[in-house]
Amino acid sequence: MANKEVIVRFPPSPTGYLHIGGARTAIFNWLYARKHNGKFILRIEDTDAERSTAESIEGIIDGLTWLGLDWDEGPYFQSEFAEEHKKVAQRLLDEGKAYKCFCTKEELEAKRKKALSEKRDIKYDGTCRNLSPEEVAQKENEGIPYVVRFKVPKREGKIGYDDKVLGRIEKSYSDIEDFVIVRSNGRPLYILCNVVDDIRDRITHIIRGQDHMTNTIKQILLYEALGKKPPVFAHMPLTLDLQKRKISKRTHGEVVSVQWYREMGFIPWALVNFLVLLGWNPGTDQEIFTKEELIQAFSIERINKSNSVFNYRKGDPKFFTDPKAISINAWWLRHLPIEEIASMIKDDFIKEGIWDDAYEGEKREWFLHTLDLIRSRFHTLKDFARLGRAYFADDFEIDPKALKKNVLKRPELKDLLPELATVLEKIEPWDLKTTEDALRGFCEEKGVKPGIVINGLRTVVTGQLKGPGIFDVMVVIGKERVIKRLKESVSLFK
Ligand code: GLU
Repeated sequence: MANKEVIVRFPPSPTGYLHIGGARTAIFNWLYARKHNGKFILRIEDTDAERSTAESIEGIIDGLTWLGLDWDEGPYFQSEFAEEHKKVAQRLLDEGKAYKCFCTKEELEAKRKKALSEKRDIKYDGTCRNLSPEEVAQKENEGIPYVVRFKVPKREGKIGYDDKVLGRIEKSYSDIEDFVIVRSNGRPLYILCNVVDDIRDRITHIIRGQDHMTNTIKQILLYEALGKKPPVFAHMPLTLDLQKRKISKRTHGEVVSVQWYREMGFIPWALVNFLVLLGWNPGTDQEIFTKEELIQAFSIERINKSNSVFNYRKGDPKFFTDPKAISINAWWLRHLPIEEIASMIKDDFIKEGIWDDAYEGEKREWFLHTLDLIRSRFHTLKDFARLGRAYFADDFEIDPKALKKNVLKRPELKDLLPELATVLEKIEPWDLKTTEDALRGFCEEKGVKPGIVINGLRTVVTGQLKGPGIFDVMVVIGKERVIKRLKESVSLFK
């Protein structure tokens, strides 16, 4: 049925990058559209010409695309509808629902100060509301600049709406000021353009941040003045940092930008999964959701009422973002089909100089098996080329901590490791069982605890303190390389 259709939108103002808060808004709208087989519209609110460069728009589109949030219509650009916005403003003037206000900035400021000192409400006092047509014409002839204000109906009582998240929200008519809808340069303001666009796009639900609530009642008045039924509103909680501040690039840096998560090796869906939980809860303790599960589980009613906390301490070297985000990413890293992981890391391997075309050819099986083996301890896609470099290249670094703990603290390994190499050289075939038997036999013969040799071996062969089972490691790294690394380990003891 046409009137049951769900049409939602994401209307970012271009800033050059997609803020994670904006991404969360987009995700909620997108989920709602997908859940109800509705439409998700992308509309760029680019009326601020200076900030709306092609690059700043691209940043938003790239971010959404990377996250996998597909839109059904758009991107539309608000600037393309400038004439329509002006026409609607004119219509409101013609119908007596708006008026020209010639008060100067200085006059308004003086009034505001006076009202403040007398502890009165500082809203606009309506001086120009009742100018006669002659007075208006005269001021215009004199070339006095004006703004256009919306004429808030003089009514008793309250106007309100049923917020799908917060419940009934109301305000007395007498508390709403005649707000500006067109600037003195003739440009309609966001508050009006946004409504005109939402009407044209037949938006049924507006899911946006609580920071927009100051606009909502005024916008409902605009709908009424334009003879339209307002959409359903749902205002989401804000995301604050541990000090309860809004998270911004200025105070928090790159950690608020979606692009940065891509650079840090996030799996796009893992970021979606994390962001959804910042402000919505399934009513159970489930934290990991597939796309289908999330679409199924999502509902506006379960959007949290209170603000959510982005648990990030700037400068904490252990956590480059909220630890929950990292753990959700690590979960997806361990559980996605390994082929998907393989394609996600390819570019990074190329960049790091460790890509081999054979990974998509004759070495495919080895490659996938190795990725699968090493992923269990990793947190980001970057870890494969960084912590896992020794599996794919001979020029890898040894983690100094691991070197100290597993190798240098055991001077006996200086001789033992090369000796082990000689034993391993004889092994044929090279598999889990033969390597294990050889290693255990060697330790017994030398009277040394296997743990000591295994730890040293691990660090010398992989550069790491910990990792997968050592025999799996030996098998994937291969006989030749293991032996070479063991022999060369002498040089580590200075
Ligand atoms: N351009 C506004 C923003 O980026 C959109 C507000 C709305 O959703 O109505 O915050």
